[in-house]
Amino acid sequence: MAPDTTLTASLKPGVVTGKDYETLVHACKAGRYALPAVNVTNTSTINATLEAAARNGADVILQLSNGGAQFYAGQGFPDGALAKVLGGVSAARHVHTMAEHYGVCVVLHTDHANKKLIPWVEGLMDHGEAFYRETGKPLFSSHMLDLSEEPIEENLAECERLLKRMQAIGMAIEIELGVTGGEEDGIGGEYDDSADNSKLYTQPEDVLQAFEQLRDIGFFSVAASFGNVHGVYKPGNVKLRPEILKNSQALVAERHGDGPNPLNLVFHGGSGSDKGQITETLDYGVFKFNIDTDTQFAFSEPVGKYVDEHSAAFKYQVDPQTDEPYKKFYDPRKWLRAAELGQATRLDEAFVDLNAKGRSLARG
Ligand SMILES: [Zn+2]
Repeated sequence: MAPDTTLTASLKPGVVTGKDYETLVHACKAGRYALPAVNVTNTSTINATLEAAARNGADVILQLSNGGAQFYAGQGFPDGALAKVLGGVSAARHVHTMAEHYGVCVVLHTDHANKKLIPWVEGLMDHGEAFYRETGKPLFSSHMLDLSEEPIEENLAECERLLKRMQAIGMAIEIELGVTGGEEDGIGGEYDDSADNSKLYTQPEDVLQAFEQLRDIGFFSVAASFGNVHGVYKPGNVKLRPEILKNSQALVAERHGDGPNPLNLVFHGGSGSDKGQITETLDYGVFKFNIDTDTQFAFSEPVGKYVDEHSAAFKYQVDPQTDEPYKKFYDPRKWLRAAELGQATRLDEAFVDLNAKGRSLARG
């Protein structure tokens, strides 16, 4: 048998796309580790993620939701739909400029786009194609299309249409089958674990159908639902059933004989998950682990602490008693830096949980 080159693969540091992205995904699955996919909204959340990846010797995935992209452009920008496109482009260009200098591989991704947000993805594609003509690389490694609320035929037909366009510039797609519970940036409904929750569990037959329709079109990953939920809630009635991932892999492998884990699986709603169950999903070909709620809290919590400790500096520019200037306390870099360090520390934990620490493929 030929040696498994995925275990010794090396890539140039920086944003990875096309075949390099495929190499990275295969290395994760072969090496039984996953990369945290961190939702970012500004330069601080991006830089804190790059800092954490670099100090852990790990590769990482950065992703923007439509709201995150809009925020990057400026919440006050008058045309919200345009802001979602331009903010995504601007954030991606920042990452392209910085990532290679942090010395790790970075995957650039966008998060849930439902039917209404297809024009957002197409707008990003217009810019991605222009960037490709300029640099030979797309802006993003992969876009997500979440049409899980539509009939599966419609979901897959749209994914196929957009994947054809994406693969022409070395991009991949992430699709969703079944519904991730809870809400992510306005997509998805209220989390109600007392209701009928059968849609929270993807059917392996649906995954097989997607595999058969998309595998010859381009590179794709699947967010399959196994009871995972966006956000962090009190423990409820929805149980994580990672065996759904295992059964989906087994069904596709049995029909198509493409190795033990033919599917590239994505774990949505990773925040607050049980560490044992995270580890179990690594056996079933999960290479991308979405984390948003936990890193949001880790970013904000130190700011609250900082404001508590220096509360006068957030009310007065000068100490009312001593006339001492408070500038060095209210300088936004001070509390934003505390936030960045909080987020990076949470990511230190994620890299260990996902078995990704020290496993960057970046060389040179
Ligand atoms: Zn999600």
